[in-house]
Amino acid sequence: MHPRVKPALRRGWRDLNTVQFGMTPAHAMTLGPVDTVTGTFLDLLNGTRGMELLREEAVRMGLPEDHADRLVERLSDAGLLDDATGGGAGADALRERPHAVDRLRSDLASLSLTAPAPGDAERRLAARRGLRVQVRGVGRVGAALAALLSAAGVGEVDVRDGGCVEPWDVAPGGLPPGSVGERRSDAARRLVRDAAPERPPRRGSPCPFRDDTGFALVLLTPRDDLAVHSPDPLDSEPLLAAGIPHLYAGVVEATGVVGPLVLPGETPCAECLQRWRVERDPTWPRLLAQWRSRRPRTPPACDVALATAVAGTAAGHALAFLDGLSAAGAPHAAGVRWEAALPGLRWRPREVAAHPDCPCGAAGQAVLELSGAAGRSRVTMAEQRPSAESCHRANRTRRPGTWRAHV
Ligand SMILES: [Zn+2]
Repeated sequence: MHPRVKPALRRGWRDLNTVQFGMTPAHAMTLGPVDTVTGTFLDLLNGTRGMELLREEAVRMGLPEDHADRLVERLSDAGLLDDATGGGAGADALRERPHAVDRLRSDLASLSLTAPAPGDAERRLAARRGLRVQVRGVGRVGAALAALLSAAGVGEVDVRDGGCVEPWDVAPGGLPPGSVGERRSDAARRLVRDAAPERPPRRGSPCPFRDDTGFALVLLTPRDDLAVHSPDPLDSEPLLAAGIPHLYAGVVEATGVVGPLVLPGETPCAECLQRWRVERDPTWPRLLAQWRSRRPRTPPACDVALATAVAGTAAGHALAFLDGLSAAGAPHAAGVRWEAALPGLRWRPREVAAHPDCPCGAAGQAVLELSGAAGRSRVTMAEQRPSAESCHRANRTRRPGTWRAHV
């Protein structure tokens, strides 16, 4: 282990013997009491020294023999420590690709804050390279989402859509102006490739008859606004049958939608959503039939900024799921449709409950405790008790002298 105080957290002294790591309510921690020599010793925890050398340095500085081990353990328990050589074989292989590492350095720093144990961030980033995901529908939202997942280090991002790129599909971060008129799937595959030029080669060739199973996650991002508003349960039936998690995202009538994330048999699906709608509004099927029979000939209302925000939000939820990170034990998009309408752009969660008659079986599962961003709580210095929401391991194993900072 080569301990490194997380460089992603800014450090400052609150007083002569209390150090604060980080600035934001979600991640700031304070550590104390810390004497001046230990404060100087912290600078040596930069990932360049192994434990043996650190012990020698500590003794040389006049610190007790076991000081280095105790400090490292304390920082580790508080979620403040990285391991510059950690993460296992996958991380070792990634470190041998300096171009990939450099491009993903900011993503790794971010992961180090949400995956708190030393080596966790490296392990999870390396694991992304072994994942396959598929994006179905590559308009403004889907194309940007596919590029984002590829850029974030997901090893294989398959894209599925028909037709050719239209002028209104073009967006920064998505399909480029030069792709107008090109086959949509070809342009999207190039976009995915360009987003991560050093990523490993695909397993097999992009064949339209290729096996559609084995995806860690399928992103359903239809260009049709009706499919965004009211996803057809028939489309997701094969995914449910194969047990493939899937996430909905798109734009409908200047409203961005992200969710739900469907974990087959565990969290509510498109049919749950549809059954509840019909129960609440018996005329819903009549409206749906009219909408489906009258396809608009004009492009849907899909603001470029909103589409990009939706793609970013969906990518964030997708990565949190793929990384195995969640808050309160459940992914934030499971059982929830996040919606934001222009011009306010305030994201609001709309809960999607499991329907007791839906064959997906989610209603038979234990209710997951879902918590939105608005429900986040934090702990003040005065309270010094663990947060109820955070998955921050530090809080569960907090040692005397470390606590969430009051920021
Ligand atoms: Zn269902």
